[in-house]
Amino acid sequence: MSDLKVRLLNHTKNPDRICAAAAQSCYSEQGAGELFDGTTDERAKKMIKKVVGMGHLSVVEHAHFTFSVEGVSRSLTHQLVRHRIASYSQQSQRYVGMSKAEYVFPPSIAGDPEARKAFSEAMDNAWKAYRLLAKTVPKEDARYVLPNACQTNITVTMNARELWHLFSLRCCRRAQWEIRMMAWKMLSEAKEAAPILFEDAGPPCFRGPCPEGDYSCGKPYKKGVLPSEEELMVESAKPTD
Ligand SMILES: Cc1cc2nc3c(=O)[nH]c(=O)nc-3n(C[C@H](O)[C@H](O)[C@H](O)COP(=O)(O)OP(=O)(O)OC[C@H]3O[C@@H](n4cnc5c(N)ncnc54)[C@H](O)[C@@H]3O)c2cc1C
Repeated sequence: MSDLKVRLLNHTKNPDRICAAAAQSCYSEQGAGELFDGTTDERAKKMIKKVVGMGHLSVVEHAHFTFSVEGVSRSLTHQLVRHRIASYSQQSQRYVGMSKAEYVFPPSIAGDPEARKAFSEAMDNAWKAYRLLAKTVPKEDARYVLPNACQTNITVTMNARELWHLFSLRCCRRAQWEIRMMAWKMLSEAKEAAPILFEDAGPPCFRGPCPEGDYSCGKPYKKGVLPSEEELMVESAKPTD
């Protein structure tokens, strides 16, 4: 099963107020410094709603968030790093030995005895080959036999605009269960740090009709309700669902 862990390590101090002051400075004779000191949560909320609603999204780029994502598969990190407006640092299979067989068991496989047996045998064989190869060839070459399921850790820094985009795509039921779980955990932590910036963040069904057309799952998430792990660990929505 999954050992997925998400921890918000650091973020811009006062993220809501920084972005609100930056937004307000576009329309004011005062600079963001003065506006920041005079901004209340209520005013920040009004300002952020207004500019974000107008599509003036660059103002939320002033807030940055750094997460540690641990115990996830290389399948997940391959999907994650497709999000380009970010900084990443991933555990290296060139420098870190992978002799210990640590891998992610997708729930669809874990729940089916025959699939589970085939999967476990494939993992055992992969690691057996890895350990054998690592005795004579560099780790960077031995790793070629390791599977997508191999566990890894990654540190990711994104600004609030890119996080909004990530949450729209990856909290949706169309995203795979593992990255969906990661995205919801990140959203939950981001909301605690910046409740105004992330108030409406999440899948598109939080904000209106589903844009997925034939791929729509027809089961919109409820805004403000964090789905349970069981609810998240289900297959992605397909056109026939
Ligand atoms: C359900 C789902 C299924 C997917 N299936 C596949 C698949 O089968 N095959 C596949 O290859 N990928 C797939 N992807 C990945 C997807 O195509 C994107 O690569 C990924 O979601 C990153 O999003 P992005 O490109 O919008 O933006 P990011 O890289 O996060 O960038 C954010 C935004 O910045 C702008 N931007 C960034 N770079 C550029 C640029 N070079 N030029 C212009 N604008 C830019 C765009 O507006 C972009 O939306 C899938 C994603 C999802 C959510």
